[in-house]
Amino acid sequence: MDPALGPPEAMAEKRDELTPMMAQYHDLCDRYDDALVLFQVGDFYETFCGAAERTARLLEVTLTSREDSTGEYPMTGIPIDNAESYIEELLEAGYRVAVADQVEEPGESSGVVDRAVTRVITPGTLTEDELLAGDDNNFVAAVACSGEEVALALLDVSTGDFLATSSTSSKAIADEVSRFDPAEAVVGPGAPTGVFPDDCMETPFDEAVFERERAVETVSAYFRNPDALLATDAEIRACGALLEYAEYARGSESEAELEADDESARLEYITHLTRYDPREYLLLDAVALRSLELFEPRAVHGRDEATLVGVLDETSSALGGRKLRDWIRRPLLEPARIEARLDAVEELQRSVRAREKLQDLLWDVYDLERLIGRISRERANARDLCSLRATLAVVPDVRAHLAGSECDRLQQLHADLDPLADIRELIEDSIVEDPPIEITEGGIVAEGYDENLDALRQTARDGKQWIDDLEERERERTGIDSLKVGYNSVHGYYIEVTNPNLDSVPDDYQRRQTLKNSERFATPALKEREDEIVGAEERADELEYELFREVRKTVANEVERVQALADALATVDALVSLATVAAQYDYCRPELLERGDDLEVEIEGGRHPVVERTQESFVPNDARFAGDRRLAVITGPNMSGKSTYMRQVAQIVLLAQVGSFVPARSARLTPVDRIFTRVGASDDIAGGRSTFMVEMDELATILREADDRSLVLLDEVGRGTSTADGLAIAQAMTEHLHDEVGATTLFATHHHPLTEVAEDLEDAFTLHFEVDQEDGEVVFHHEVAPGAATGSYGVEVATAAGVPEPVVARSRELVAETADERPDDSDSPAEATPKPTTSATADGGEQTAPRQSTSDAPGLSSDVAAELQALEVAHMTPVEALAELDRLKRLLEDRR
Ligand code: ADP
Ligand code: MG
Repeated sequence: MDPALGPPEAMAEKRDELTPMMAQYHDLCDRYDDALVLFQVGDFYETFCGAAERTARLLEVTLTSREDSTGEYPMTGIPIDNAESYIEELLEAGYRVAVADQVEEPGESSGVVDRAVTRVITPGTLTEDELLAGDDNNFVAAVACSGEEVALALLDVSTGDFLATSSTSSKAIADEVSRFDPAEAVVGPGAPTGVFPDDCMETPFDEAVFERERAVETVSAYFRNPDALLATDAEIRACGALLEYAEYARGSESEAELEADDESARLEYITHLTRYDPREYLLLDAVALRSLELFEPRAVHGRDEATLVGVLDETSSALGGRKLRDWIRRPLLEPARIEARLDAVEELQRSVRAREKLQDLLWDVYDLERLIGRISRERANARDLCSLRATLAVVPDVRAHLAGSECDRLQQLHADLDPLADIRELIEDSIVEDPPIEITEGGIVAEGYDENLDALRQTARDGKQWIDDLEERERERTGIDSLKVGYNSVHGYYIEVTNPNLDSVPDDYQRRQTLKNSERFATPALKEREDEIVGAEERADELEYELFREVRKTVANEVERVQALADALATVDALVSLATVAAQYDYCRPELLERGDDLEVEIEGGRHPVVERTQESFVPNDARFAGDRRLAVITGPNMSGKSTYMRQVAQIVLLAQVGSFVPARSARLTPVDRIFTRVGASDDIAGGRSTFMVEMDELATILREADDRSLVLLDEVGRGTSTADGLAIAQAMTEHLHDEVGATTLFATHHHPLTEVAEDLEDAFTLHFEVDQEDGEVVFHHEVAPGAATGSYGVEVATAAGVPEPVVARSRELVAETADERPDDSDSPAEATPKPTTSATADGGEQTAPRQSTSDAPGLSSDVAAELQALEVAHMTPVEALAELDRLKRLLEDRR
């Protein structure tokens, strides 16, 4: 057990002797024993004993100690003012944090100040803006099962987004998990393992919350009739557990509240639950998400914007950013739904002025979902209400720019954009222009909103006026011209008379303070006024706080309307973003074909949306898959553009299904159900997943799960093993994909013999990328053409990459030797690669890696040639290239 968690041993031993405060700490640690308890003492959050030692080290703050009659305890404090940044570090270190605040004013009760855990902060339940990325959701997940069914529930506690789905396949659930990438997961009893990736924190939680009866009750407290809403038992369990976890994390305002099994724990802003079937959306598993670079750049040192979302995101608001990410995460399948988005994008793309105006207006839209969440959780201050007011103020203009729209989607949005005039008016009337952050110290409520408040303020003002006039009056009355009226915080108001004038002081002056050159006095009348002012101000502050809470409550009651508005604004923003990208980067509207039997992909002048942004000039390429063109074997030297081409085809398909325009001159597409990708191990070393097993595992998934509605990308698979094995596997896969699966497939390969395999298959064809040599330098055209490549130009690429000249020269020699030794003297180096049928029998029928080959020199040198050809020179460092060449050379020499 982590010594930072749970009640400290040193305290547990003498629980009953502890001072009341330490006993409180001990008990809170006991109750929240899976979290690190931050214990408010005045302006600090303190931790003690093991937790103190841990936090001191993690946060690099000083370890002190606290001594009382029962002993000395190590102690570490972090200032409350700056707590968020420390909490962030604790979360990063893998802790959950329970914040125990003082929930009554010191002195309010006779004993020790009451404390309660007002929030439990965990990676998946963050609501603090400081700890959250604005433009992305932060989900906590729960997984439950029931019989065959595995269910997944996902909740963004900061926005109230709540989803549920289920499947009989835990793999399918794992795929959904990678789509939403939750930060934390609560796992029910008996749920399958391996559903969550390593970077997702798995939280143990009371198993009882997963029980059906209890879950039904929890879910019913939020939504009427969970049975109708959720498809399966497992879904109800997952949702119920997740809601209870969110309530637990929300904390409570007092111990009493926690004890009461109650309504007040309910998170009122969770108003919608979206149940979906994974099959309603284009399926993308973790591998596809990663290799298509939707959200994360693939290269370790990749630039942030080198992702699909990076190039598409021109949204103005956090709301729009999240909506766009949701669309990219879940591309659609139904042409009608896609067309509805495309219509809107097209209209906005055409009307330049409206689009630009909207984009401008949307800059002033605050994060309404999180705002209303805070308002509903009673965490919002007056400034939050002002942010809401400022957002509502732009809604009429946003609406105006959508008036007269032609397409249904925009018309619908126009209708949905309720400017919430009543709420706006309420905030305008009640809250001042620029209120302070604090909500208990007044200065929040506007003049004229409440008569009683105005009266109190008038009293205070009158009193101050009376005091302002006092100086003049007293000077006249006493004849002391230098008499002054002043104020200090200790003694209050006073009349100051300098020593030489003390004789003229009237009888009703009462001495308050003696200074070096003067005396300070008060009069009964002044005292009375002062009390009046102070009393009025205090009551005004209290009243303001009450009024503010009332206004906040009124707004909170409208949570559903605010959420509906937020959704409409988010949608407008996401559509405007897509239209902006379409216009700025010359995208075209894809034509979507009905999902008949035959899958078609026809792209003219397609570009890679991400690569084209980083490239000075990008060469567009066509792609045509239909009828008997179903499987393409793509060859060409390293760096010629194979990977880029394949990904661009997949990304264009995906973008179209998102409802976006696409980077192409024209595109005709049938929506696909699923995109599979597999990038060969050698390309993926950066990701630390270079093992052959992983590669085979993923290939197995594709072969099992792909069908004729799938788009499959295979990039250099079969490299993790010997050339012969690799080629054999590649060929068998190709045949299987062609004969059995019928998926639309792009297969980039260094195995040139595969091109011949493709010629023999009815629905397969070959594509290649050619390079030219000019003055010994390779020139890449990045142009795709029909047929197989004639050479791999590995040696030339080595030159370009800076491999030292002697090595390059020797490589040329070796390649030439191999060519000479080849029995049938073709001029295509590609053919030097042995076919699996011949090489596999090198020593008596067993497939053997060239490295261990025992065959004689000619066979061996052709193996060396094959190895040379398979080298990814562009991906090697010069030293690696040298070592490899050295090895190959010695291999030849040993045999001579
Ligand atoms: P391969 O997979 O054939 O080794 P890549 O697809 O990785 O080649 O492309 C190598 C590099 O060439 C890319 O990083 C990109 O900079 C450039 N490139 C690829 N395709 C194009 C293109 N169509 N137009 C311009 N540059 C391209
Ligand atoms: Mg490649």
